[in-house]
Order: sequence, then C-alpha cells, then structure tokens
Amino acid sequence: MTERVLAGVPASPGTALGGVRLLDAAGEIDRTVLDESDRPAAAARAHEALAQSARELEELAGKLRAEGRTDEADILDAGTMMAEDPVLLEAVDRAVLVRGLSAASAILDEVELAATQLDALGSPELAARAADVRSLARRALRLASGRDGSARRKSTGETILVAADLGPADVIELDGDVRGIALAVGGVTGHAAIVARGLGLPMVVGLGDGILTLTEGEPVIVDADRSVVIASPDGERVDAVRKAIALARDARTRAMAARSLPTVTRDGRSVRVLANAATPTEVRAALEAGAEGVGLLRTELAFLEATHWPTATEHRRTLEPMLTQLKGLTATVRLLDFGADKTPPFLKGVHGRGVELLLEETEALEAQLGAILETGEETELRILIPMVTEPGQVRAVRAAIEPIAARRGSRVPLVAAMVEVPAAAVMADRLAPEVGMFSIGTNDLTSFQLGIDRARPGGSPAHHPAVLRLIAATVEAAHAAGIPVEVCGEAASNPLVMPLLVGLAVDELSVGAAAVAKVRGWVRALDFVEATTIARRSLDAESAAEVELLARPLCSLLDDAG
Ligand code: PEP
Ligand code: MG
Repeated sequence: MTERVLAGVPASPGTALGGVRLLDAAGEIDRTVLDESDRPAAAARAHEALAQSARELEELAGKLRAEGRTDEADILDAGTMMAEDPVLLEAVDRAVLVRGLSAASAILDEVELAATQLDALGSPELAARAADVRSLARRALRLASGRDGSARRKSTGETILVAADLGPADVIELDGDVRGIALAVGGVTGHAAIVARGLGLPMVVGLGDGILTLTEGEPVIVDADRSVVIASPDGERVDAVRKAIALARDARTRAMAARSLPTVTRDGRSVRVLANAATPTEVRAALEAGAEGVGLLRTELAFLEATHWPTATEHRRTLEPMLTQLKGLTATVRLLDFGADKTPPFLKGVHGRGVELLLEETEALEAQLGAILETGEETELRILIPMVTEPGQVRAVRAAIEPIAARRGSRVPLVAAMVEVPAAAVMADRLAPEVGMFSIGTNDLTSFQLGIDRARPGGSPAHHPAVLRLIAATVEAAHAAGIPVEVCGEAASNPLVMPLLVGLAVDELSVGAAAVAKVRGWVRALDFVEATTIARRSLDAESAAEVELLARPLCSLLDDAG
C-alpha cells in the first residue's frame, strides 16, 4: 500500500510506530427487530453486559487506586454508576421488550440518550461525564455482541490503537504493546487524552473518518509532534522513526535519572524549570520529572464546552486536585483565556480574547479570583493575566484581587502578565512596574508577530529575529524593573530556541510535563556566556534560517545532553 498522511490535532506528545489495531463496534450492530420470543433472552443479555461492564470498571478502578491513581479511578466510577443505574436498566428493558431492539442496539440507544441529556445540561463537568458514559456504551456493546469488552486483545506486537473515539477506561487498560493512539474524533482535553498524556502515549485526534479506513495490522506512524498520522510509511521513514524512538527512550531514562540535580548552566547561571499543566495528571507527572512547580496552569481548557461563565464552585472543583499537589511550590494560575480557538459555546460570536473578555464580565473574573485565592492558599501563588496589551488591564485585575484577598485575610499574590501580543512586548517598560513577573507566550507572540497561523504543522518559528527582538526587549524591561521573566510557550522546549532564550537571560522556562526532565538536562549542558553571544548575534540576523545556522552548535550540544 502507498504511504498516506492524515492531519489531525496533537493530544499527547511524541512519536510512535506500530501496526493498526482497529477498535470499534458501532458499525457491526444488528438493527433487525427481534421476534417476541427472543426478547426476554436479549434483555437478559443486555443486563449481563452492563453488569459485567460495571464489574470490569470497578476492578480497574480498584487497581488504579492501589497504584495511587485516584483521579483516573474517579473517572471510571462514573461509568460504573451509570451501568448500575436502575433508570438506564429500565429504559434498556423497554427498548428490548417493547420495541424489539437487540441487546447491543438497546444499550447503544439508551446510553447515547443519557449522554446527550448530560451534554445538554450545559456544565463542562457533566459534558465530560457524557464522554465517560459513551465509553461505557462501547464496552457494554462489545460484551453484548459476545466479545471481550475491553480495548485489550491478544498481543500482535507493537500496535497503534485506531478508533472513532475512546473512553478513559479503554486507554487505562491498554496492554504494554500499544504504542500510540489515533482517533477520528476526540478532543485534546477529553479524559482519554488526559490519561494518554499521563501514560506518555503519543496521541493524535480529530483525524476524520479517513483514519477508520486503515486496515488491521497496516503499519502506521503516530507523530503527535507534527500533528500527523502516516499510514504504510515508506522504509526510509520507518527507519528514521525507529531511530528517533530509540534515542528518545534512552534520553528519557538518562534525564529522569538526573532529575534531582540543580538546573544551573556549566558556568553557573541558574534557570528554573517549571511545568505547563491543565490537569492533575500533568501536575503529578511534572513533579515526578523534577519540575520546581507549575509555570502555567491553563484554566480555560476545562471549560471549552461550557454554556456559561464558570462559577466559583466549578473553578474550585477543577483547581483543587491540581493545587493541593503544589503545597509550598510555585503555582502560576492563568486567568481564563477564552477566545479564538478556545471559544466555548456561550461565547460564540463574541469578539475579544483573554483579559479583555474577563474585564467585561466582572462577576466571572471575581468568581475565578476567589476560587484561585482559596484553593491556592498553601502554594507560592502567582496569578497570570492572559493577552495583556496595556498597563490599565493589569491595574484593573489587581483592583479586583485586592478586596477579595482582604475579605479572606490572605496576602495579595504576585500578579504576572503574559507577553504574547507584540503590543505587550513593545510596552514592556510601561507594564513592568505594574507586575511581579512577565511570562512570554511564544506560541501567540510568534504567530501575531509574523502573521502566521499558530496551528500550522511543524510549529511557527520563534527563532525569527523579529520575535527574538521582542523577547530581548521584554527581558531588558523586566530586569530594569527588577522582575523575572518566564517563557511558557512551546519554544521553551524547542532545542533550537531554548538556548537562545537562556542566552537572552530569561530566568524561568515552563514546559509540558513530558519535556521537564529533558529541558532540565539542557540547562546543565549549556554555557551561559556562549549562549548569550549567539543570542545577541541572532538579534542582528535577517531571517529565521540565518538564526538556525547560528544556533546549530548550541542545539547539537543539547542533542548530546539527551
Ligand atoms: C502562548 O501563547 O505561548 C501560551 C503559552 O498560551 P496558550 O498556548 O495557552 O495560548
Ligand atoms: Mg497564548
């Protein structure tokens, strides 16, 4: 078969290679109406499939709890409760006994109805619950159709799981042979993606139905770093990927072994390495990898399906499992950054982004600030403002924080501004006196500065001199005002750009949990003076390509560091 490339959305980083393992049952369901005499047996089969699903999920949850993976176990409990819900069982009975549906059809229809009702209630938490319920349906369906209910099957060597969508339980109980996941639908913030990230399984979602036409056993590459899945890759590509996977595995082992060493360059400059996170699993993985805390907690990702501004209670519920892990450590909680590709249904058609939107909704801002101050009480709390363009926005947020802190009797936390719009970098000298820290978001900064789509495959070039100049100006203004600068965009874990950031005297790097150990090793491999010389020269370059040539020697140093 010839090579085919399918583009999707990365949900868990890394590259994997294996044979396709197709997982789906919906297409195989018998929709013929049953004879009256067959209906009681079908109803019994539906009950047994649901009961067996509940037993399996309960057993899985027990195993996870024994390993301390309580967040994942809690996700599975939703499925168990649903499988035992008398209202669902009654509805399934009616569907089989009265309408004559088969056991599998009845389960599919009734569980889907329950999931749709949960979706319609408008809470992001319940919407996530709906996905869990659908996952239960798939498991019960496989059982009702007389097959193994789990995503697990007899080992056929290293495999890539291919499915329309996956539930968390499907991902959790994958056997050791599954190397990656490719989904037709699925979201980046769905539970399956969260679990995959926790397990370090590369995953690409949103590939469309084309992915379901792959044949069982067909070789396939999941390349989440380039947002693609490549079916029947040619021999050369397979060799390259195999080498990259082996190198990555060795590097991970070395980096994890060194996670307690200080992050200081060879000539003694200290650079803090923190983590970006949006889920409790990511926070745990980041701390295990040696992160000094969280440098960017993206709060909006939990609310992308919201039908109203999140309430204080909803904020507390999502923040608590993350911030309780960060007692005594840095916790940089970013205020909701809704807008553009992160626009929930209730904001469709509304223009604006980040702090601009929040300042128009004082109540929503206060609800989030109250929840952050309460749940972050025991952390080294920093409140980060997204999409800042002028100092007045920082003053307005601080004015909202002060009375809430006073009411609670807690101190006002450090307030930081994202520098992710060129305006903020240009105004850095005016913004610096208003904040305790800058955090540079290279993802947006690069795309706005160069006028390119940030979702473009392969990423956007943060090493373009026009972007580096904005970063240099930001650092200069910050240090003149005596405040530190963090970089929390993807560039902080890009081997070409990271040394330039260190050379431009950035104080902190905040990177995805999976990159923490690696980036810590990179800091130790660099020489600050050498990095500064090359970074300064890069500011005078004419193009990203020219910077690439200048930065190559530093980049290869990192290769050696792992
Ligand atoms: C960025 O823009 O670099 C950033 C970290 O923010 P986000 O990716 O969440 O937009
Ligand atoms: Mg951004």
